[in-house]
Amino acid sequence: MRPDKAFAKLNAGTTYREGRSSPGVDSIRWQDVAGACQGLDEIAWLVALYLWANDQMAGSRLLVQAEAMARGLGFEGETARKMACVAMIEMKDLACALCRGAGEVQVSEHRREVCPACQGHARRAMSEHKRARWVGIPRSTWRANYAGTYEDFLGQFVAAKHRAVNHVHARLGTDD
Ligand SMILES: [Zn+2]
Repeated sequence: MRPDKAFAKLNAGTTYREGRSSPGVDSIRWQDVAGACQGLDEIAWLVALYLWANDQMAGSRLLVQAEAMARGLGFEGETARKMACVAMIEMKDLACALCRGAGEVQVSEHRREVCPACQGHARRAMSEHKRARWVGIPRSTWRANYAGTYEDFLGQFVAAKHRAVNHVHARLGTDD
């Protein structure tokens, strides 16, 4: 089940509209996401509100946390800030078009499978070239010194998103 549908199911006041060009997303209310995600750790909670409730305040707080995480990985100053920005953009705006960022797709009424388009990463990968350009690092330097760490960094947010998705499914008492 996609998170948007799950949120709607958790809140009877929200109507999930199947077949829209952007299914359900703008019909989700902040309260639906916040309610469904109660009890999550802070990062997963902020990721959920940022991704699914379009909460700019949560996005700003997440950016601060992300920057601190990037510094924890050894990146400094402007580079840490830009890496945090790119990871947040990648996580949100480059969500896989097929699963819409859930990492899984519904294949029958009671079954979901790892998304065949993104292999569960829930995102379209940004090219190394583009990442390097956005952070302002020469491509060869990026490849040699940044690429692997950036993947790990981004992976922490992808993991937080999965925690949020699993949390919502657990609250629904279902795994389809
Ligand atoms: Zn996908």
